[in-house]
Amino acid sequence: MATTRAAAGTAAGPSPHAEISEQGVAYLDGEFVPFADAKISIAAHVINYGTGVFEGIRAYWNPAQEQLYLFRCREHFERMTRSARLLRVQLPGSPDELVETTRELLRRNAFRTDVYVRPLAYKAGRVMKVALDGIRDGFALYTFPVGGYLPTDGLKAAVSSWRRVSDNAVPARGKLTGAYINTSLAVDEVAGRGADEAIFLTDDGHVSEGGGANLFIVRDGWLITTPVTADILEGVTRDCLMTLSREQGLRVAERNIDRTELYVADELFFSGTGAQVAPCVSVDGRPIGTGRIGPVSRMLAERYFAIARGDDTAHPEWRAAVYQ
Ligand code: PMP
Repeated sequence: MATTRAAAGTAAGPSPHAEISEQGVAYLDGEFVPFADAKISIAAHVINYGTGVFEGIRAYWNPAQEQLYLFRCREHFERMTRSARLLRVQLPGSPDELVETTRELLRRNAFRTDVYVRPLAYKAGRVMKVALDGIRDGFALYTFPVGGYLPTDGLKAAVSSWRRVSDNAVPARGKLTGAYINTSLAVDEVAGRGADEAIFLTDDGHVSEGGGANLFIVRDGWLITTPVTADILEGVTRDCLMTLSREQGLRVAERNIDRTELYVADELFFSGTGAQVAPCVSVDGRPIGTGRIGPVSRMLAERYFAIARGDDTAHPEWRAAVYQ
């Protein structure tokens, strides 16, 4: 499998298409266990009905400092707490406690490379009834090296004919395991048209977000992203980029984006923990702006990677050092 096309500073490691190795240590229901032993029953509710919530967190290795930095780990566990509320799942600790468990897991694996962290909380009970309340919960955490999730050197996107799940059906605000069928359908569809990433429209026809990332456009000097009411996952990276943009004096708006605004935008990029900052150079075969990565996308990507890896000391509150 080819590795993902990457720009400088992005996470280095295996392709997200590669099978995850079951080496090292994972965490399951309160215990650190060999990864290969961390199993759940085929009768578990989550396997049968998709009743789980999860997160995706990155830790960046800084070779000069010999340090591994978890990036915005607390905010991911705060969002996971909200997702869990939606699904009536009880997490085994507060966001701060879960950050500590994550740091301990990374230390036990002694990683000196860029890694991804995947917490999962789910209905573990071997229960047939399709419901939420009164079903035993489970919690797992595993981690593995991975590179970029999307190309970061100028990707191609396409609008999917699959609509984003709406808040009154399967809420996109929660990072829900079963909801990723929606993403899988859309990404599968646009891959058949040669695109790297899907763009979802909402049920009412406005732009929602990417398959696994939030979406930004640049128009007439404004940075614009879709609002939290557009059936998006409320991204942690989205928040970083809005903050960094305002610090640079850019005007930032959260408002509905029409489909044709994608075609006339000066720049377009995706943001996400997996996606990082992934500039997009074409949508539906039409070039965005000049058809090359634009200055705002480039500036934000450079700043994001420098801060996430700890080469830029701005926003120390966003990084948690793993090693003492
Ligand atoms: N939207 C979707 C559907 C996603 O899966 C992700 C990745 N978690 C994002 C947006 C970006 O969120 P974040 O920046 O918090 O990773």
